[in-house]
Amino acid sequence: MDIVFLNGKWQDKNSAVVSVFDRGFMFGDSVYEVMAVHKGRIHEKQAHLSRLQRSLSSTKIKSPYSRKKLSLLLEQTIEKSGISNSIIYLQVSRGVQFPRDHKIELGIEPTILITLTEKKFLDWSQIEPLSLITQADFRWARGDIKVSSLIANVMLRNEAVRKGYDDSILIRNERVIEATSANIFLAKGGTIYTPKKSRFFLHGITRQTVLRLCEEIDLQAVERDVFKDEIFEADEIWLSSTGNILRPVRKVNDHSIGDKYLLKNSLWRKLYQQYHQDLCKAV
Ligand code: PLP
Repeated sequence: MDIVFLNGKWQDKNSAVVSVFDRGFMFGDSVYEVMAVHKGRIHEKQAHLSRLQRSLSSTKIKSPYSRKKLSLLLEQTIEKSGISNSIIYLQVSRGVQFPRDHKIELGIEPTILITLTEKKFLDWSQIEPLSLITQADFRWARGDIKVSSLIANVMLRNEAVRKGYDDSILIRNERVIEATSANIFLAKGGTIYTPKKSRFFLHGITRQTVLRLCEEIDLQAVERDVFKDEIFEADEIWLSSTGNILRPVRKVNDHSIGDKYLLKNSLWRKLYQQYHQDLCKAV
């Protein structure tokens, strides 16, 4: 995509500029949303707009536009791009403030940026499984707000990469929380488990869709505390996120989960295929 939407104007992506005094840059004082576009339609658009609204009100960042106008801008972004399958990032920072001060100056206007990048959605057979490492979750205790200050997530992801893994499973008080940019599901004996909602992790839209799909196709799914030990007894594990839908896990630490996810009747495979159908009927 050659243009981005920045502060009320469509601009060339190479010349769009944000002030160095933007609080998003100074303090990470900003929130964001990531949405998947399939065949020109945003999957779970209303759920994403609701979560954005929640992030804005939790952080007391002023909404740059009404929900209706934001929705329209997203549609215009898709139309202007001419791309049918993509990922959209919508970022809102608290705005520009000089001189730098933690204390918020009343009346500053939020900065809004929308970008769109082409993204192909893969068939289940093209998906590469992940290897994960467990690490203590040292992030802040409001992981449920989608803030763009992600340095802890970046550190935890790259520590995993440095050790030869793809990502980290984050653990707090012996409980499984999530990965650094995805939620987590375990399957054991035909039942699916995912950590119950708390303030420690992002309530993923994909996670919610998977729970809905489980209901629709009669799979038993349970939201409850999931303990670290259960990882090593699971039949299947997968991560969920808007960008990568459902990624199966083949290994955690030095424990092999194996490739049961490839079996025709694996829960991951059923849900991945179901998710794909759901994307196609997105409104
Ligand atoms: N958890 C974290 C920390 C994330 O950053 C993300 C997505 O970016 C998710 C979970 C998955 O959320 P969603 O399914 O809404 O993309």
